[in-house]
Order: sequence, then C-alpha cells, then structure tokens
Amino acid sequence: MLFSTGKSFLARFSLDISRNVKPIGLIANYCQVASALRPKKAKSTRKEAQYFSDSKRIRAVGGKGGDGCVSFLQLWCNERAGPDGGDGGHGGHVVFQASNDVRNFNHVGSILKAEEGEPGSSKDCHGKNAKHYVIKVPIGTVIRNAQGQIVGDLGQANLMFVAARGGAGGKGNRFFTTDKETSPKVSEYGPRGEDLSYTLELRSMADVGLIGYPNAGKSTLLNALTRAKPKVAPYAFTTLRPHLGTVQYDDHVQLTIADLPGLVPDAHRNKGLGIQFLKHAERCTLLLFVLDASAPEPWAHYEQLMHELRQFGGRLASRPQLVVANKLDVEEGQSNFEELQRRLQNPVLGISAKMGHNLGQLLNSIRKVYDRHKDQPKESEASV
Ligand code: GDP
Ligand code: MG
Repeated sequence: MLFSTGKSFLARFSLDISRNVKPIGLIANYCQVASALRPKKAKSTRKEAQYFSDSKRIRAVGGKGGDGCVSFLQLWCNERAGPDGGDGGHGGHVVFQASNDVRNFNHVGSILKAEEGEPGSSKDCHGKNAKHYVIKVPIGTVIRNAQGQIVGDLGQANLMFVAARGGAGGKGNRFFTTDKETSPKVSEYGPRGEDLSYTLELRSMADVGLIGYPNAGKSTLLNALTRAKPKVAPYAFTTLRPHLGTVQYDDHVQLTIADLPGLVPDAHRNKGLGIQFLKHAERCTLLLFVLDASAPEPWAHYEQLMHELRQFGGRLASRPQLVVANKLDVEEGQSNFEELQRRLQNPVLGISAKMGHNLGQLLNSIRKVYDRHKDQPKESEASV
C-alpha cells in the first residue's frame, strides 16, 4: 500500500514538471540551469532490509613480512658456491580509499587483515610482495585513532589513508655475506604488520540535507524527488536513520539528498533522536529547510530549527540554505504561506510534496545554490 502510493506521487509529479516548463513565481531564470531528469522506471516494490552504518570501529592488521631464507648453493663443479638465501616479500598495507562507489560502511568488516609477504627461497629468489588491501570508503570519511584524535579525513575522491603498514620482508642469508663471514647461517624473520584500531565516521553523505521537524514532509519530499523509499506516516519519528536519494540532472551531475531524522525542540539536550544526525549535515553544500505550512505558526519552527543548529556548534547555522513551505495543498498551508514569506528574510518556495507541486522549481533552485557554493570549504574540512 505504502509503495503503490509512492508510485502515484511520482507519476503525478512527472506530469507536474512537464506542465511547468516556464519559470514562475520566486525562482526566475531557472531555464539557464540544467534540468533534473526524472527516472523512467517505477520504483521497486521490494521491501528489502536496509542497513546503514555511518560509524564503525575497525581493527586494521598489516600483513606479516615474508621470512628470509638460509640456503647454500651447491653446483656440480663447486659444492660450496656460497649463500643464496633470498629475502622475504613485504606484507601488504591496509589502505582506505575515498570513492564515489560506496555510500556507507556496510561492506567494511570489523577486522581488516592484509596478506602476508611470501618467504624467500634458495637460488636468490626473493619472496613476492603481498598486495595492499585497499578498501573503498565513502567520500567524507573521517578516521579517528584509538585515542579519538582525527588522523585522516578523506574529503576527495581517491584520497588514501594507510591504516596499518605491513612488515618489511626479512633478509635472506645472502644479504649477510661479508668479506669476513662468507657463509652466514643467519636470516631475518619477517616482522608482523602494524595492528591498530580506528573509528570510521561518515560526515558528508549528501550534497543537500533536509532539515525539519517530524511530520513536516521530509520523507515524502525525498520520495517524490528521488528513487529512495523512506517510510512515510503521519506520526513523529517514522524515520529513524538518514535516508539518501539521488537526483540526476541532464548535464550528468548527480546530487545526493539526505533525509535526516526529525529534529525536535531541545534536540541538543538529547530529546527525540538528538542532534547526532546533524554531523551528516556538516558537509552538505546546502541545507533545505522543510517547514509544515499547515501547522500553526510555521515561522516559529524555522527559528527553533536554527536554534538547534546553532547549539550543535560550528558554522552549521551559516551554511547556504533554502527554505520550502510544504503542504500548500492544504487550506491552512495556503493561508500561512504569505505570512511566512513576510516574516522570514530568506525567500520561501511553496511546494506540496504529496501532490508534486512546484518540485521542478525546487530542483532547479537547489541546483543553482549548489553551483554557487559547491567549491566553498565545508565546516569540518576547515577545522581538521
Ligand atoms: P517527516 O516526518 O518529515 O519525514 O514527514 P513524512 O514525510 O513522514 O510526512 C508526514 C505526514 O505528512 C504524512 O502523513 C504525509 O502524507 C503528510 N504529508 C507530507 N507532505 C504533504 C503535503 O504536501 N501535503 C499534505 N496534505 N500532506 C503531506
Ligand atoms: Mg520522515
């Protein structure tokens, strides 16, 4: 039932966009911006279990180095042809690499162990070096050591962090040959790799973060804009974890939108789900405030939400913002909308997430603000 309703939102919304081809209302000139592509396929109705991990404790163990070899060469014409024990290969490192391919830490195991180097062998054969164990992590992963200090911040694609170095290969007895000791019977063991504990934290999941009180219609909006399927219901705390959806524009730019579980007044005192999820908003390029225009005094909601953001600390409250008034299909929503526009300094875009009104304009204004601010350093990047 839930999903069939979701599909009909989408269908209605697609119609709505095709009708609204001309710029109207507050957002003019949006034709200059790339327009959002609508998915052609209906959303799947499969209700698969979804897990999402945005922080993970792991142990990284580098590969052991290969042992060196003790060996003496014997030839048919020279039985004592000298030491020929080869060196062991190096153990692999455990490396985190920031990548666009993954969005959370579900695929990361709790113990990450790199391969061991091969031991050396006779005839001066060196052991093979082990391959490094490279694990992809989402862009925006912050790595803390066991003491809680930030030691790595993978804010750009392909940045790497060596979490545990592998042991170097042990030397074979050939290495120890000197003028005085021409037949050494010693070789080195390959040392163990580093064994370190870390906590991985995901800060920047999305380009756009939806901020709003429970029941404002954030999940409905994400449902209508993207192929994500967050649960929608008329009670608070339907959404218990952040949901992500992606919007694609016709110039191939993809923006990720995060539905962050609802803030409540005094969330910074750990009421409701608290402000724990705001860490994800820290690096969003843009915060999209979703206000329920049908509620009494929606302008007060905006002030309270800003208060919670200020309490969270940092410069979260000064990040670029867009304010939308949702539920304009309801009568109270329409009557509150003009008052809301007058009271807030920012322009307010009126939408109806359920009926799909004005969502085309919303996507275009999101893109405009994103293009203007995407290169600015984000809060936590500046602080690390
Ligand atoms: P969230 O807690 O902010 O994620 O809110 P939900 O998306 O779960 O929506 C809460 C309730 O508001 C649901 O019953 C939705 O059907 C309803 N709702 C959301 N958007 C609209 C809208 O534009 N118009 C109307 N009339 N109802 C809406
Ligand atoms: Mg929700």
